[in-house]
Amino acid sequence: MSAVPLRNNPASALRKRTVSVLGATGSIGDSTMDLLRADRDRYEVEALTGNNNVEGLAKLAREFDAKFVAVADPARLSELREALAGTAIESGAGESAIIEAGARPADWVMAAVSGAAGLKPALAAVDRGATVALANKECLVCAGDFFMDRATAAGACILPADSEHNALFQALSSGNRDELTRVIITASGGPFRTWAAADIEQATLAQALKHPNWSMGQKITIDSASMMNKGLEVIEASYLFALEPDEIDVLVHPQSIIHGMVEFSDRSVVAQLGAPDMRTPIAHCLGWPDRIAGPAAKLDLVKIGQLTFEAPDFERFPGLRLAYDALRTGDGATTVYNAANEVAVAAFVAQSIRFGAIARLVEATMNAWVRGGNLAPLTSADDAIAVDHNARNMARSLLPEIAAKAS
Ligand code: NAD
Ligand code: MG
Repeated sequence: MSAVPLRNNPASALRKRTVSVLGATGSIGDSTMDLLRADRDRYEVEALTGNNNVEGLAKLAREFDAKFVAVADPARLSELREALAGTAIESGAGESAIIEAGARPADWVMAAVSGAAGLKPALAAVDRGATVALANKECLVCAGDFFMDRATAAGACILPADSEHNALFQALSSGNRDELTRVIITASGGPFRTWAAADIEQATLAQALKHPNWSMGQKITIDSASMMNKGLEVIEASYLFALEPDEIDVLVHPQSIIHGMVEFSDRSVVAQLGAPDMRTPIAHCLGWPDRIAGPAAKLDLVKIGQLTFEAPDFERFPGLRLAYDALRTGDGATTVYNAANEVAVAAFVAQSIRFGAIARLVEATMNAWVRGGNLAPLTSADDAIAVDHNARNMARSLLPEIAAKAS
């Protein structure tokens, strides 16, 4: 009996892997460590990093017998060394130690630091040609085309760990680039999907942190409420897959079951579905090019009953519109978009601006940046970091004016 051939590659499925997890103490880090724990013998842990949670980091390092651990906060080094006393685990602190963690010889690196701080350590892994599971979308948005160019030059393999991009990555193998007509990334719509603009304007931190479907770190949860996260993801998709802004659509899908779809020239649309659990896209990256067992709940469409869809509202969620503007503007505009958003989110968390002011600060910073004649192509990581730094300063200088203004 003949059958459609399925890929069968047992040799690589059995292969051991050395792995590093940058941002091991966060939400994505947690899901990644969960997957490593489930097949402990297959993975050897090279390096783990965290921002300042020394206790959590040391506990993981001991559990997985990591070779090297690093905390971003330089003041925590002696505390980290104390927590690792009696082990042979090497340790470091500060930005250079986090970068060293990326540079250490692991086959597979999870890049899950949050924010643009993740750029340099991810590049350290990219530059030595590692396989990099990329959760940290801000680093891609900040560095733009440059990040993917560096990966190509070094022969690094970038695997998208963000659920929508992982879905696109899986669906894209159904056709060729010239057969692709558009990609669609879905958005839950966040906690304010059905709210009036006036209520969104006044939303509190507690309300912004109540995501309907996903359990994630604080920054991305707030970005989901403002739909800035979807904006960052539109930019991420453009750089990852070399797509024009017009080739990327956003579709609000409150159940978060379909994560991404690819439309081809024959009008076939190929989608990836799954329960909203980040361990599924991470497992896909960890097993790739094979598949490993994933711990997420089996998808029960009968139980879910209905999948619904809505057009995104660019008026109530201006952050999404601004992402397309930044992408079309190019020349560092997406770096400015991300930097201003990071400043705005921090100000919202510190309760110095209202929720509605997040997008206003991003828009004001982007406008001031363009008016000031600052747009220029990014040709190096240092360029991207300098734009990020200057855009943050510009956003901070605009903060008082934005905070004082009513909507
Ligand atoms: P998180 O806040 O839970 O964790 C962030 C990790 O980075 C922690 O380990 C923290 O200690 C570390 N960190 C923070 N600032 C640092 C700094 N300055 N230097 C070094 N380390 C630092 O965030 P998360 O939700 O796990 O998200 C991580 C990244 O993955 C983000 O870029 C986010 O957009 C992306 N992402 C997350 C999810 C999710 O479900 N959580 C989904 C898709 C993409
Ligand atoms: Mg996502």
